[in-house]
Amino acid sequence: MRDDCIFCKIANGEIPSATLYEDEDFRVILDLGPASKGHALILPKEHYKDLCELDDAVAAKVLPLAGKMGRAMKKALHFDGFNLVQNNGEAAGQTVMHFHMHMIPRYANGPQMVLWNPGKLDDTEKTEIIEKVKKELE
Ligand code: 5GP
Ligand code: ZN
Repeated sequence: MRDDCIFCKIANGEIPSATLYEDEDFRVILDLGPASKGHALILPKEHYKDLCELDDAVAAKVLPLAGKMGRAMKKALHFDGFNLVQNNGEAAGQTVMHFHMHMIPRYANGPQMVLWNPGKLDDTEKTEIIEKVKKELE
């Protein structure tokens, strides 16, 4: 737990939050600035800056928890779908440097959200990307 990290304090109950769920590893809270009704954040109680630093055992519990929350919240809030969004790094929109997963309910009648505008994948770039990434994975 980091003294200078707001999500450490929230996850560990030092700062009160609108908590939907808590277990020994996680706290799920409502986002202060919701993108839609029910926008929630899954916070591990341990501090990890982002997904690249996340412990594998904690990571293995995140998706099952997101599924459990999704099922319960869908029944409770009657949304039509939801997005899991997880930002890594400032350039990706991460503003709180403590790993978290957004659960953003989506309703057929909005609000509308565009997560990205699709571009085009050209063959040269495709080959270059594949070669470079595979090399780093070796
Ligand atoms: P990020 O942009 O880092 O992926 O997401 C950070 C999210 O945390 C934002 O959606 C923001 O509204 C939310 N947030 C920031 N500070 C607080 C806080 O103190 N309490 C709660 N509940 N949400 C927060
Ligand atoms: Zn933290």
